[in-house]
Amino acid sequence: MRKSAVMISGGAAVLFALIVGFGFRSQCGAPRRSSFSLSSIKSHKQVVDVLIIGSGPAGLSAALYTARSRMHTLIIAGDKPGGQLTETTYVENWPGSEKQLGRSIMSSLENQARRFGAEILQDSVVGADFSKWPYTVQTEDGHTINALSVIITTGAHSVTLGIPGEKEYWGRGVAVCAICDAPFYKKKDAIVIGGGDSAIEKALQLAAFARHVTILVRKTSMRAAPVMQERLDKISGKIDVLYNYDVQRIIGDGDQVTGVEVRNNKTGEVKTLETDGVFLAIGHKPNTDLFKGQLPMTPQGHIHVQGRSQATLVPGVFAAGEVEDDVYRQAGVAAGDGIKAGLDAVNFLNEIGLNQQFADELDNRGVYFDAFESEPDALTLLSSMSEFAKHVEGMSKGIAVVDFYAEYCPSCMMMLPIFSSVSKRYSDDVHFFKVDADQAKDIVRYLNVPKVPALLLYKDGKLVAKEMKTMSRQELSQWINSYLAS
Ligand code: NDP
Repeated sequence: MRKSAVMISGGAAVLFALIVGFGFRSQCGAPRRSSFSLSSIKSHKQVVDVLIIGSGPAGLSAALYTARSRMHTLIIAGDKPGGQLTETTYVENWPGSEKQLGRSIMSSLENQARRFGAEILQDSVVGADFSKWPYTVQTEDGHTINALSVIITTGAHSVTLGIPGEKEYWGRGVAVCAICDAPFYKKKDAIVIGGGDSAIEKALQLAAFARHVTILVRKTSMRAAPVMQERLDKISGKIDVLYNYDVQRIIGDGDQVTGVEVRNNKTGEVKTLETDGVFLAIGHKPNTDLFKGQLPMTPQGHIHVQGRSQATLVPGVFAAGEVEDDVYRQAGVAAGDGIKAGLDAVNFLNEIGLNQQFADELDNRGVYFDAFESEPDALTLLSSMSEFAKHVEGMSKGIAVVDFYAEYCPSCMMMLPIFSSVSKRYSDDVHFFKVDADQAKDIVRYLNVPKVPALLLYKDGKLVAKEMKTMSRQELSQWINSYLAS
């Protein structure tokens, strides 16, 4: 891996003066031109040339270009490794591939980035400081990383309705990932809320298993592409679309969803629709809260980029994908913008004078970057009832956490690395296990696990808590700690 050096060239100095000279510096505290100096780097440890925050199509595509240019590239995978594409099934509009699983696209991209030398850290960024250079980020696992350039590709998250019952029944009938839950809807009914492509995609995924699916659209028409709407016509009878309905409340029996209260916004009629599950498909919001006050954004929270570049108003900080794109929002576009951000970052680093001589000097002083240990998956797989009884129910003292997953479930495959990385935070007081729900059907039947992902927590051999949803590293640790303390 090439190591790097930093100094400002004349051309770059002019560029920076132009970039930061329009009042933004004072507003958001971006560093001054004089900040980009060699001496400041020598006093830092854990410095990377390019830090990429996020591991979706934009982040991994950016890494292809930075790592291939021999820039030391670290990707922080975030809470959704692989990004939103891992939540979908087959993708038909990824250039060069007629039909491919979203997860498989992301896995090839990841392998390609790693082959060029990019390093991927299973961790999430919890703080960032772009007011002085080198830029710093803090991670949930307690790392501080210094970066000569940063590419933000944190994507977007699903919007929720914020209505009564939604939080209460989250994971117990309310969900966003239809492909994850669909196999559990045999002989059951489901409602999908939304009028976009996602709503249709989710309805089709559910209809493959469910008895009946209803799509609730708030307007008189759907905004989904005609080609998607035609797919609904082909399976008429199984999927109904109801227009002009606002959902006011999600109703349940205390344990599971049983219906939704809807209001017809044309007639004012209010009624209850019975259902076993509610799937939200009402759009996405950019994941930019972390950068508020440091980078200019639109009122909707998208990061501003300049002209045809991916440059933000802070020199050396770039953004790509749904964090900045509120128009196209396609994986292919995110990948293209990621490539642009990668090229922009390489140009930036070249402009500020990275060279081998300085890198060697840094190496001789023992500074620069200690690679994070890539520890193997520490989870024990339980594949039979006897193993489960011995390791979990037979534990007379201590906590055992069991993650039920299935290969077909994207949320589960997203949860597994999070579960694995959190397991490394605990010593012998908490034991972590995984169960492949598709293989170990006897364990699933015995425990009556209704869906995946499912996390079961045992204390002293007794089941004390159950969660049927994905969690961030922080949420998972807090959940476990609350039972450690009690
Ligand atoms: P969109 O933003 O396109 O659609 C969101 C839908 O949710 C709209 O119909 C909107 O209604 C509705 N909505 C928003 N808020 C509410 C609310 N509070 N109550 C009820 N309904 C609400 O998001 P999608 O996730 O569907 O799509 C995002 C992008 O991903 C798009 O570019 C899409 O093309 C793409 N995509 C492509 C797929 C494919 O090609 N296979 C599959 C899935 C997504 P309204 O119309 O009234 O604003």
